Amino acid sequence: MDRLSALLEHNRAFTENREYEQFKTDRFPDKGLAVLACMDARLVELLPKAMGLKNGDAKLIKNAGALITHPWGSVMRSLIVAIYELRADEVCVVAHRDCGMRALNPNKILQHAMERGISEETIATLRAAGIDLDNWLKGFENVCDSVRHTVQTIRNHPLMPKDIPVHGLVIHPSTGRLEVIVDGYHCDIDPAL
Ligand SMILES: [Zn+2]
Repeated sequence: MDRLSALLEHNRAFTENREYEQFKTDRFPDKGLAVLACMDARLVELLPKAMGLKNGDAKLIKNAGALITHPWGSVMRSLIVAIYELRADEVCVVAHRDCGMRALNPNKILQHAMERGISEETIATLRAAGIDLDNWLKGFENVCDSVRHTVQTIRNHPLMPKDIPVHGLVIHPSTGRLEVIVDGYHCDIDPAL
């Protein structure tokens, strides 16, 4: 059975058995939280459990590295919508140890793309069109610096209300232990970051 069929078969049983009833909630986050986390597969269940979050408690936004690559991209927009339209009043950025985005190598990714059939010409055309692939595909060197930078990007956003605490955390992907990198209640981050 292919993956989609298996998934749909599970889904039929899930709905028939009314297993959804235990997840019933509304779209407003009960704990008033918007969380930006990494998409790492180890965090699928671990992150909410380790943070004491159940269905309906938080707005959870995920991407590779818990990063905001552009102040006008979809992550920042999601946070703005969560705050103004969905009653979130506190933000947590949660990156993690052993993240795949640490020291990501753009050349290696492009090499893999070519091995999968993307032509060298396509890559050259993108570069010629002004797309900075190396910058777009780069990760970060240090997870704590990255979290501080992301928190600062959120706090400095012109549409972000100044009374919203923005915390920066790093979670351990095996134990779920959280380290506080930025305490959003007492912000004293280096403005240079
Ligand atoms: Zn990660």
